[in-house]
This record gives sequence, structure tokens and C-alpha cells, in this order.
Amino acid sequence: MIRSAFPLSLNLLKRNYSNVAPTTKLFIDGQFLDSQATDWVDLYDPATNNLVTKVPKCTHKEMETAVESSRNAFQSWSKTSVLTRQQLMLKLQAVIRRDIKKLAQNITLEQGKTLADAEGDVMRGLQVVEHSCSAGTLLLGETLQNISKDMDITAYKLPLGVTAGICPFNFPAMIPLWMFPMALIAGNTMVLKPSEKDPGATMLIMELLNEIGCPPGVVNVIHGTHEAVNFICDNKDIRAISFVGSDQAGKYIYSRGAANGKRVQSNMAAKNHAVVLPDANKNATLDQIAGAAFGAAGQRCMALSVAVLVGEAKNWIPDLVEKAKKLKVTAGHEPGADLGPVISKESKQRILQLVESGIKEGAKCPLDGRNIKVEKYPNGNFVGPTILTDVSPSHTCYKEEIFGPVLCVMTADTLEEAIDLINSNPYGNGTAVFTTNGSHARQFVNEIDVGQVGVNVPIPVPLPMFSFTGSRGSFHGDLHFYGKQGLNFYTQTKTVTSLWRKGDAAKTAPSVSMPV
Ligand code: NAD
Repeated sequence: MIRSAFPLSLNLLKRNYSNVAPTTKLFIDGQFLDSQATDWVDLYDPATNNLVTKVPKCTHKEMETAVESSRNAFQSWSKTSVLTRQQLMLKLQAVIRRDIKKLAQNITLEQGKTLADAEGDVMRGLQVVEHSCSAGTLLLGETLQNISKDMDITAYKLPLGVTAGICPFNFPAMIPLWMFPMALIAGNTMVLKPSEKDPGATMLIMELLNEIGCPPGVVNVIHGTHEAVNFICDNKDIRAISFVGSDQAGKYIYSRGAANGKRVQSNMAAKNHAVVLPDANKNATLDQIAGAAFGAAGQRCMALSVAVLVGEAKNWIPDLVEKAKKLKVTAGHEPGADLGPVISKESKQRILQLVESGIKEGAKCPLDGRNIKVEKYPNGNFVGPTILTDVSPSHTCYKEEIFGPVLCVMTADTLEEAIDLINSNPYGNGTAVFTTNGSHARQFVNEIDVGQVGVNVPIPVPLPMFSFTGSRGSFHGDLHFYGKQGLNFYTQTKTVTSLWRKGDAAKTAPSVSMPV
């Protein structure tokens, strides 16, 4: 493994810290460092509101040092063989798989989701690592012989340089793993900013990168909020930004990053509708909707947050309520937990306000989880499964992403009406139709204007050989995360046109007129 020379400025920061509480460290040039920050974010266990760690808002100097480290590392990392990069990912997938439970425990502690969900979080990221192990194939360029007489063209996929990743709180392992493995196999380096609300999984993954011999500086981790984001958007050495998070931040980062000449891919908020046709398998469909609406406390960007019941399926609401009632709400590490707490007190407050607004604006609430008591965890940010019916498109609870365990139920007389409703919504992250009728399913797939569509599949997140293709208001950019598009996002194309002639032909003076 190539080890880049440790820059002088970094020696001042270099100490022998591990990344355990009470403070979250920076990861710069392969070292876990104490931040000199004066401003810190307190991170609380969402199930108890006990302090877990303090996360620094990095100083400007620390962020500069991180980029300097990534810039230095790029010099050697971009020249490593594709097989070297591929082998790093093969090792990474083995150690992540080995430590999946440890990672999941950290996710449950900091983010609150159930252990099973937390393992799923790691698994979906691991799949991208596994996909990136085929770097050799993914990076193949194109070539065409005899494009003109004795002339050939070859197109190479080359790295960009230093890239950056800005992550949300809801998938603390999966989203960083959507980003840096794809960037690295293409020969880039990356500065990662995990969510200040749960950076622990990223830090554990950095320990794994050190264990497998990843050269220092290939990935650096900084922490912070708006200032760190502004720094990334403005820094002249950062060539591309991958962002996943809310609309407000995503639109801002997209504009500010692009104005500074950077490539930006920005995955944002969602309002995902499930269309239930009366010919669907009732029991299986309602189980799937309950799981996709309330699982992970509704804090998935692909959560089904709106159910559109068509025709006779309008009568299925009582059965849906019964299924939702049975879900067990408790701390994520408790056996049998179906959903844990939401991320913060502020988030809980916001969810409760949106439910309240729905009721005030005319919705009914046959299942109200606002006052749930979870005995062992009286201080947790729990919201029980909540169902709002009679919701209309003008209601605030429909117009805004709630990001909590709240399902809005709407009705439609026909499939066409349901499709119109969804196509009129500004978001296009995901949707699903439940039916046993092939022609209805086909009509839905053809006419729906949403980037990720499930047919009898509630959360249709594509596997990494495809890309995550949210559309319209849920995405800004041209190239999506992972898969072929992800690789294209992290590479630039160089085309080489070569003319090789033999003997006297090579000595002929070329014409000065434009070749045709
Ligand atoms: P968030 O936007 O609050 O935070 C995401 C990142 O942006 C964090 O690193 C944060 O520090 C930074 N940030 C927050 N506010 C900012 C601002 N005003 N200006 C600049 N930077 C800012 O998002 P979140 O609450 O952590 O995550 C939940 C959101 O992410 C939901 O809207 C969800 O739908 C979305 N999400 C989307 C996808 C997708 O693929 N479409 C996946 C996961 C989550």
C-alpha cells in the first residue's frame, strides 16, 4: 500500500486518540484527532435523551487540513492500479460484514432505529461496496478502431480529484457507503461530512479503513453544520459534491456548489404514495404498507407516507388500523421492537404539529400515536403509528414531508385519478402499486411520473447495479447515486484520437484544411 507523506501541518494535530465518547473525533490523514472547535453539537440517545457524545463543529483550519490531506492523497491514489482499489473494497466488504452487529448497535444508539433496521442500513451500504468490487468492469472505457483512415479513438473514465459527501441522519451507514466506495474505485479521494446527529457509524467505518490499510487521506472526515457545508461548497480543490438530505439544504448546496463550478448530485425529500387497487391481495398489501409507513419510525426517504385507496379498497381502513396498532414501539435495542423513537425532541414536536394541523384542516385520526407512553423509556422521542384519513391535497400534512410514523390515507375512484394525484405532487422519489391485475400494473408503470416504482413492492430501492433514481422535486442533478450513473458522476471522460501510419505514409505532410 502506498502511504502518502504526512504533511508538516498535520503533525501538530496528530495524537493517539481512539474515537470513543465523550467527544467524536475528526479523521484526518488516517488519524483520529481531537477537534479544537469551540462550538459543539450534543448528541443524545433518542430513546433516553442521555448524552452520548459531543460532535465538534470543525474549525476552518481543520477543514483546510482535511482537504489538503485529500489533495495530497489524490496524487498517489489516482495512480494506483484498478486492482489495488478493487482489493481495498474486497477487504472493506469483509470487515463490514464481520462488524455488522457492532455498526448496528452504534446506529441504534445514536439514531434510534431497531437493531434489525440498523443491520439493514449497513447491508444496503455493503451492497454498494460489493458492487464497487467490480471496479475493473465498471471503469472500462470505450474504443473504436479506424474512426478515420489509420485513426483510432479511445475514451477513458478518469477520476476528478477531491470529492465531498454531505450526509443525512436517517441512514448513518448506508449513505456514506453510497458515496466514498464509488468515488474511491474511480481514483478519487473524499472529504466526508456525516450528519452531526449520528456520525458514529462513519467513524467506525473509518477505523475499518485503517485496519485494511487504506492510505491516509484517501478519506477524511470533518464534522459540523452550515459552516462545514459552506466550506465544502466554496473550497476550490473540491470538484464534486454528493448530497443526501432535506430540500432546504439540498437546493442550497446544489446552487452554491454549482455556482462554484462543481458537479453536484442532490437527493432530497419525498412524499411516496402507495396505490391500493381493490384486486390487490388485501392481507399482504396492508402488511407491506404498515411496514413501509411506520418502519424506522417513518424516517426513510422511501417510506410510504401516503396510501391512496382506490374503489372498494376504501373499506380497508379498519384493517390497516388494526395492523398498525399491533406494532411494538420501544427502544431500538429491545427485543421485538418494530419501531423506535424519532431522532430528536424537535423532530417529535414538528411531527405532532403536522398531525395537529391535519386534524384542524379536516382530516380524521382513527389511530393517534401522539401521546404514546413507552414505560421503560419515559424520556424518549417516541411517536406511535398514526393514521390520518380524509386527507386532501391542500392539507399541510399532505404538502409537507412529515418524516415520522404518520400515514396519510386518501381515496380515489379510479386508477387514473390516483395517477393524476401522484403526478401532481412535486416529489418523485418513489411510489408503489398493489394489484393482481397485470394491465393495471402496466398502466401505472407507464403513466406514473416518479423515478422509482414498485409493483407489489413497497420500498423499491434499486440494487447497486442500477442507480437510485428519484426524480422531479426529490432530485437535483444529472447523474444519480451508485450504479453506472454513480460511476459517471465520479469520473470525467478523456478521449484520445490517435493517428499511426506506417512507412512513407507517415511522412506525408498533413493538409491544413479542416478534415471532413
Ligand atoms: P438535513 O438536510 O437536515 O441534513 C443533511 C445534511 O445537510 C447534514 O449533514 C446537515 O449538517 C446539513 N444541513 C442541514 N441543514 C442545512 C442547511 N440549512 N444548510 C446547509 N446544510 C445543512 O437532512 P436530515 O434531516 O439529516 O435528513 C432527512 C432528510 O433527508 C429527509 O428530507 C429525507 O427525505 C432526506 N433523505 C433523502 C434521501 C434520498 O435519497 N432522496 C435519502 C435519505 C434522506
